[in-house]
Amino acid sequence: MSFHTLGLSKPIIDAVSEIGYETPTPIQEKVIPHILQGKDIFATAKTGSGKSAAFLLPLFQHINRERDTEKFLHVKVLILVPTRELARQIYASTQKYGSKLDVKTQLILGGGNINPQIDALKLGCEIIVATPGRLNDLIKVKAVNLNKVEHLVLDEADTMLDMGFLSELDSIFALLNPKRQNLLFSATHSGKVKFFAEKILVSPKRIDMDPPGGAAKNISQVAYMTDREKKMDLLCYLVGSRNYSQVLIFSSTRAEVDTIQKELASAGLKADVIHGERTHGARHKALERFREGKVRILVATDIAARGLDIPDLPCVINFDMPQSKEDYIHRIGRTGRAGKSGEAISLLSVDEDEMFKSIERMIKIKIPKENFKGYERELVHVKMDRRYQEEQKKQKTKGAFGESRAKAAAKSKKITKRDFRYAKS
Ligand code: AMP
Repeated sequence: MSFHTLGLSKPIIDAVSEIGYETPTPIQEKVIPHILQGKDIFATAKTGSGKSAAFLLPLFQHINRERDTEKFLHVKVLILVPTRELARQIYASTQKYGSKLDVKTQLILGGGNINPQIDALKLGCEIIVATPGRLNDLIKVKAVNLNKVEHLVLDEADTMLDMGFLSELDSIFALLNPKRQNLLFSATHSGKVKFFAEKILVSPKRIDMDPPGGAAKNISQVAYMTDREKKMDLLCYLVGSRNYSQVLIFSSTRAEVDTIQKELASAGLKADVIHGERTHGARHKALERFREGKVRILVATDIAARGLDIPDLPCVINFDMPQSKEDYIHRIGRTGRAGKSGEAISLLSVDEDEMFKSIERMIKIKIPKENFKGYERELVHVKMDRRYQEEQKKQKTKGAFGESRAKAAAKSKKITKRDFRYAKS
């Protein structure tokens, strides 16, 4: 299939062939014709599948057809995304894909001074790429008019909901033209997203690109079973000894991201970090340096790394398990982008086994669990030990109350989740 057969017009096809795209990706094949027909879309597609072009190319075509005759440019397309990084990335894509068209796009994101954005909006634009918080701030000061929006895109809608943007989104939707096209993209189809989609979309075309749970087939996944206190050494060993051109390391907490950076540095491995406590400028700079290949190792928290697009990233390492199952898909989706193969390694301590199992259930894949020589686990679930403890207890009870009392006591003791603490085997 070619871009031409999808119904795209010449200036748009010219722009994509100039970039070097030869054929549409599967999501582009499935989505573009429906968007051109004006349908609402509810698509679950993994990150890195080419979904930005899947919505931007047909939307450019719509805008190009509906050019304003009035001098002032009205906002026709509103693209809402959860993070500043993703907003920047999509804005960059609008410049790339729209290079043969005279379409003006405005980037709206928080963190910096609001005044330049107010001034820029006064000049008019046809596309806005925004994070919901800052867009709401601009709405409050009446700096933006959205009543002519004809196409709404919600990218990484699941993340926007996880980040608690629902009320901001509702107040934005209230200002939009009710007769509009809605395109919703999500990495996962959790109940929350489905409920949200039902509220917003009108007879949407449902497109599911991935197996349930959204894990990509071209990413090889493995978990090394180790102990928490051995993780740092194992990480340094993996990064130091394997010849990855670049590696992205995830940890759930900011403090740990900083510690990992320090430990890597003391092993002679220079790494950059991105997390919420770094300034907007520092995060942006770190991302750019990593994207340009100037830095080989990047350590990040989940939120900071959303939307990160590095086409050739060969490896992602999960220093810990994320706090939500969906974040696992986001993390590993940073590798294996645009059809390339990738590797996702998880360092798994005993206290994370439950979360790991629930991730496996969600992605419907049994991830190989391996021992890494020299870094094997010494800790086991207390559940294993409990058998011994129960046995001891039984013996004691037996002595005090006799056989029947012991049986009853053993039966009534149910092992709960709270018992999953770990102890030396
Ligand atoms: P996205 O999922 O939109 O973030 O895109 C992931 C990566 O795929 C980006 O680096 C895009 O430049 C690239 N890409 C998008 N569409 C195509 C295509 N048709 N052929 C080759 N690469 C593509």
